Amino acid sequence: MSKYVLALDQGTTSSRSILFDKEGNIISSAQQEFEQIFPKPGWVEHNPNEIWSSQIGVVAQCLAKVNMSAGDVAAIGITNQRETTIVWNKETGEPIYNAIVWQCRRTAEKIDDLFGSKDDEDKVEIREYVKRTTGLIPDAYFSASKIAWILENVEGARGLADEGKLLFGTVDTWLLYKLTGGTVHATDYTNASRTMLYNIKEKCWDERLLDLFNIPKSMLPEVKPSSGLFGYSNKDIIGASVPISGIAGDQQSALFGQCCFEKGESKNTYGTGCFLLMNTGDDPVESKNGLLTTMAATADGSAGYALEGSVFIAGAAIQWLRDELKIIDSAPESEKYATSVLDNGGVYVVPAFAGLGAPYWNQDARGIITGLTRGSSRAHIIRATLESLAFQTADVLRAMEKDSGISLKNLKVDGGASANDFLMQFQSDILDRKVLRPKVVETTALGSAYLAGLAVGYWEDTEEIKKNVGIGKEFNPAMSEDDRKTVLDGWDKAISMIK
Ligand code: ADP
Repeated sequence: MSKYVLALDQGTTSSRSILFDKEGNIISSAQQEFEQIFPKPGWVEHNPNEIWSSQIGVVAQCLAKVNMSAGDVAAIGITNQRETTIVWNKETGEPIYNAIVWQCRRTAEKIDDLFGSKDDEDKVEIREYVKRTTGLIPDAYFSASKIAWILENVEGARGLADEGKLLFGTVDTWLLYKLTGGTVHATDYTNASRTMLYNIKEKCWDERLLDLFNIPKSMLPEVKPSSGLFGYSNKDIIGASVPISGIAGDQQSALFGQCCFEKGESKNTYGTGCFLLMNTGDDPVESKNGLLTTMAATADGSAGYALEGSVFIAGAAIQWLRDELKIIDSAPESEKYATSVLDNGGVYVVPAFAGLGAPYWNQDARGIITGLTRGSSRAHIIRATLESLAFQTADVLRAMEKDSGISLKNLKVDGGASANDFLMQFQSDILDRKVLRPKVVETTALGSAYLAGLAVGYWEDTEEIKKNVGIGKEFNPAMSEDDRKTVLDGWDKAISMIK
């Protein structure tokens, strides 16, 4: 048995490859950012060929750093930014349009036309249908309307689709297709459950929704359990034929990587967006509080479910401070500014740059800054932006507890922005609970490695994996009740202006 498992973690802002050993330690890793394309306000695209070239580039770098080759890899796991939509030509393997990224709002109007707003009486039935079958709340976020947009707007696309010559994939499917030299067109439950076309209870593509969006079934990938054989890498591409045996969307992968195998266990990831997921076992719990029901990855291939609170803008707001406002040079620098002031000075930033996700779901909301005074400084704005990640998480956590009837004793965290100690302490303060940051924060990649390794017997079972868990740092609440109330009231007031 080879010594390591390789995870391909294709995120929204970068492609990463990480090599893990049996204890879940990182042996080597490589990462590359790639271009974010903003053709119009509210539109976000990636170049699918750059997604592939950056991903395969970091695989080579990751292995070369430790003098290894693909022959040293026991299995490959893939985890990916979810919902992002790629359509390519079956005969040439060439994408017919850029990847339309999950954050892209170009189809908001189409969603409004098809599903109306919350109070639209005549659209209640179809909205309820979407919720019941897919677990989702109709939104431009999911793949369905993005596929429809490509078919409606790219010249020649409709004809090719009708002739069965186009393939659709989320990013996992695209990478799998490329890695196998164009021989496998498949996805896993977790990614399928984010398309808004998949019936998560019956586990099949939903004919009514395919009709509604006018998407031919021939475009869709085969759907398989997250842990199991999807195919083998092509020797000519990475130098060896290695089983690709684990696939999960990034958030479900992180849930698995944090070892949240049991019902009621949860984690919160602070990446580009922020995603709180709770494992609900084999029970697809329907939310009454603005959360999504989604499929979770399981070790044994059975259908598992989770409740999810999706916040669209989290770490992306820190990138905004860096790239648009240019008031910090790097994301980690935000911490220094945040701690240079005693509090937020009454300033609240609501970063609804791409509408509001859970638990509010308002496609048209846009960001605001409130409470500015003559004394508001750059540090206050930076601090308020960081605090907004914690406030959004608190809103989602409240909804999660109501839906599940389970009170969380502590919050397991991960993702790029969880490295920020100020943010983690503030999160603990406003939740009045412990925040637990693991030793290995790359839990998204780790989850897909676990799924892949379990399928080939590299790890025997989840008990063996659980032994790898280690807490890196624990944050304990240290805020007075009065202060907590003041900041939470301030946030509620700010968000009520746009929700
Ligand atoms: P993704 O997988 O969505 O690309 P990551 O988990 O890699 O995201 O996290 C990257 C995000 O985290 C970026 O949006 C970045 O702004 C933010 N980030 C990274 N480090 C810090 C930090 N120390 N403080 C605050 N935000 C950070």
